[in-house]
Amino acid sequence: MIRLYGLIQCALCKRPRIVDLSKSTSSCPYCDYSDEVKDSAVLFRSKSQQEVRQALSQAMGVDDRDAAEKRSRVASVDPYSTMVYRYEHCRDQRTKLTILAEGLTEAKGEFTLEDVEEVVGDRAEKVLKAMLDHCIAYESHPGRYRVRSHFLVGMSSLLIPCIFRTSRTTPGSLTYML
Ligand SMILES: [Zn+2]
Repeated sequence: MIRLYGLIQCALCKRPRIVDLSKSTSSCPYCDYSDEVKDSAVLFRSKSQQEVRQALSQAMGVDDRDAAEKRSRVASVDPYSTMVYRYEHCRDQRTKLTILAEGLTEAKGEFTLEDVEEVVGDRAEKVLKAMLDHCIAYESHPGRYRVRSHFLVGMSSLLIPCIFRTSRTTPGSLTYML
């Protein structure tokens, strides 16, 4: 005899579940109510247990394939777009500049005024100046910039004039500049 599986709904708690249609009764794993299989309305039937399981997932509002697709979509969002999103949604000006400098360095290696412009539009010059003034980025080659990574840890010679400039910056001036 070919075994047939079916998707039924518990008569008591209404939860869908898979039953072996060759059996006469089936008890619900959720509420323990015992259904007469022949009296139950079969929502879906198949010889393939996997097909019935898929039907069950759908009945419960969980489509496995959809969930997997969603996960991969999130993972495939490129870091550049993620950076732009974080930049646009961050309120703290210093963090904003750091996100931008870090993101651009990661995406381009070295970035230019044009790269900054792509994200911030015509405020690019002010933004780039603020990055430099606040030691978030430095000019690695003429017209090319990089985030100043580990500037709190490393004691490079580049850091010295940077500390000097930062200490003269009055609080709140960053917000004013942007
Ligand atoms: Zn039940």
